This record gives sequence, C-alpha cells and structure tokens, in this order.
Amino acid sequence: MNSHQADDLATFMAGVERRNPGEPEFLQAVHEVAMDIIPYIADKPIFQELKILERMTEPDRIVSFRVVWEDDRGEIRVNRGFRIQQNNAIGPYKGGIRFHPSVNQSVLKFLAFEQVFKNSLTGLPMGGGKGGADFNPKEKSEREIMRFCQAFMTELYKHIGPDTDVPAGDIGVGAREVGYMFGQYKRIVGRFEGVLTGKALEFGGSRIRSEATGYGAVYMMEEMLAHHQETIEGRICVVSGSGNVATYCAEKLIGMGGKVVTMSDSSGFIYDPEGLTHDKLQWIMELKSKRRGRIEEYVREFGGTYHEGERPWGVPCDLAFPCATQNEITADDARTLIDNGCRGLSEGANMPTTPEAIRVIQASKTLLHAPGKAANAGGVSVSGLEMSQNSLRLQWTRAEVDQHLRRIIRGVHDQCVEFGTAADGHIDYFKGANIAGFNKVAAAMIAYGVM
Ligand code: GLU
Repeated sequence: MNSHQADDLATFMAGVERRNPGEPEFLQAVHEVAMDIIPYIADKPIFQELKILERMTEPDRIVSFRVVWEDDRGEIRVNRGFRIQQNNAIGPYKGGIRFHPSVNQSVLKFLAFEQVFKNSLTGLPMGGGKGGADFNPKEKSEREIMRFCQAFMTELYKHIGPDTDVPAGDIGVGAREVGYMFGQYKRIVGRFEGVLTGKALEFGGSRIRSEATGYGAVYMMEEMLAHHQETIEGRICVVSGSGNVATYCAEKLIGMGGKVVTMSDSSGFIYDPEGLTHDKLQWIMELKSKRRGRIEEYVREFGGTYHEGERPWGVPCDLAFPCATQNEITADDARTLIDNGCRGLSEGANMPTTPEAIRVIQASKTLLHAPGKAANAGGVSVSGLEMSQNSLRLQWTRAEVDQHLRRIIRGVHDQCVEFGTAADGHIDYFKGANIAGFNKVAAAMIAYGVM
C-alpha cells in the first residue's frame, strides 16, 4: 500500500468509526477488508465514484427487538434479539443466528459483514446477514430453550422468508433450535417453506449440513497443501472448540490420516498425545451435545492432560484449526505457532485471529493461512444447497452433497489464488478472499445503479 492509499484508508476508516461508535468487532472486520480493497480499487474509478465500499459497510437494515419468555420457575425474562440484513445484491440475505451472552450489535454486524464476502465466494446466489440474541443457552432446560426460540421467532418471522432472508444456526443454535424456530414460523405463517436452513432431514434438511463447516475447513486446508504438493496425512493437528465445527473438523482430519491432539471449551483444553480416534470423538460429541459436560472430563476417561484457562496454540503442531470463536489467536499465539513450525492455519471460526496475529503470520510467509471467509464457507455452502433442494423439492444423497461441497471449496481456494498471488508467488489468502468476494457483489451493485 502506498502512502496515498494509506491516507485513503485512514479517511475511510475515520468515517466508519464516526458512524459506528462503540463497535470494535465491526470496525475490526471492516478494517481487515478495507486494507485489501482500497489499494485494489485505487486504479478503478467506477468503484470509488459509486461509493461501493462505503455502501457495503452500511447494513441495508438492522432489526432489533425485545424477546420475552418465561423460565421454568415462572419468572419473566427479557432478552434482546437482532437481525442484521447487510447486503442482498446477489441473493436473499443469508447467515446464521447466534445465541450467546456476548451477542450485541457490534458482534452481529461484524458477522453479517463477513458473511457477505463469504457467501459471494461460494458462487451461490446468497446475500449476507446475521442474527441472534444475548440469550445464554447454558444451564437452560429443554423447555426453556424451546420457549425462547418460539418467542424469538414470533418477532423474527415478520422480517424473513425463503426469497428475502434465510437464517440458519451459529454458536448456540443447532438443529434442535432450528427445529423449534422452523415449527413456530410454520405455525404463524401457515406455510411449509424453506425459510431456515440447518433443518433436520425429516423436514427439508440437507445431508452433511451439520458436518459441512468442519469438513469445509479441512477441505480448504487440503487444497492449500495440495497447491504446494503437500497433504494432511501424518500431520499433527491442533483444534480448538468442541462444538459442531470443531468435532466435524476433527472427524474429517482423522479420516484423512491427520493426528488430532487437542480440543477445548471455554474453560480450557485437553491434550491427548496419542491422538483422538473416531470413538473418542463420538464420546466428546455425546458429552457436549447430550450431557452438556465440560471437556476436562475427557482426561478422566481417556488420559492425556487438561489445561485450565488456556488455549491450545502452545502445543507443537503442523496444522491449526481455530474452531471456537472470534479473536482466539493473539500475536503471541501466532509467534508460538510459527516458532513451533506450524505449516497451515484454517479458520473454522469467524475472525478467530486478531489483526496483530494476522500481521505476524503475513510477515513470516511460512504459514498457509485461510481466513474464515474461505475456510468456514462450507457451512453456508451446504445451507445454499439446502435451499436448492427445498426449491427442487428433492433431497440429495450424502455423496451428491459432498461432491458439491468439495467443488465449492475448490472454487473458493482457486479464487483466493487468483486474486491473492503476489509477484514473488506468495499467496495472501486474506487478500484473495476479500477481493474475490468483493468483486461479485460490487458488479451486481453497479448493475443496479445508485440505491
Ligand atoms: N453460521 C454459519 C456461518 O458463519 C452458517 C450460516 C448459514 O448456514 O446460513 O457461516
């Protein structure tokens, strides 16, 4: 970036900061994109004249609403729900719903903004959006979760539809919550339609939807390695998280001959030097989804060590898969990974690497680093395929969906290479993903004129 472009970036960011006070996560996500887009559009006056980037950073609309529900003790509880409809230039708004106490407008705006680029990269006709609530599903009974989901949908249904906005799951929202929300939507509008994805197979879900985000993060790693004539087989893999993304990421890695040695939750991580097996993973899935227990219990069952309050990045590894949440890899963690000889980092979570950590990795040039926009695009891709199947009123086989998923991730990888390769041959996957994602949405916005 030359000094003129650096000034343009500073001016642009000053405007975004002024319009979005108190929203650090959103500003972080915008800055990471603007850093690549501003130099890219420097010699393309049409994008500047039409203020494409300025328009893309302003959500089409934000819906914020009260969610009132009754807990098991009969107490009335009040939460705040949101839906951010960021951009629908290339298709209906599409993106998950997050239920977590950390949810606020800044977090959901960062996620909605990222989703626009991610969805564009998949090549499927999906715009970007995100929703959620500051509801904590931990220690809630099944009935409380059901009542919350119903109360949430009782307002959200007004703003969504199969051709307008199609939500899905994210942290705290899986097939069970999607089932409760889909049931409530159907009851209110009186129509059975593909308004949500991540549904169970019995009522219009897609095969491999649950697995897709984790599988996609591994397929992306496989593509990056293959591009450098390397493979996953025999590599030591460090995975964070123990939810849906982390467990299916680990499953696919084990299937491809990788050795997965860690998993984590919000309390700490387990290190199993022997490596996880399909049986051990099955046990973790049951621990987390059925018993809702803590990851530390793993050590009592299978041995290894538990590290309270720590993240797994200090464990020497070849490949790292952050699959927990945003900003879980700091600059120090990045230095440790590089010093330990880590070769690849594929972001199963959204924005898991801090800007300082990204700079450390970019400077080292030794680590293949796929951003969440590319590496976790598998989830929303299979959501897109679920929409296709709903429109066709068909259900594809596992093999058919997996074939589409692999093809889509290969396409994501190839676009990153096309737009992210420097003169010295080094591939900046962040830059490639940002520019490729931007181009398609920008072209559609230009075609529509000024609006
Ligand atoms: N929440 C997922 C994501 O971050 C999936 C969204 C979807 O399937 O719509 O991409």
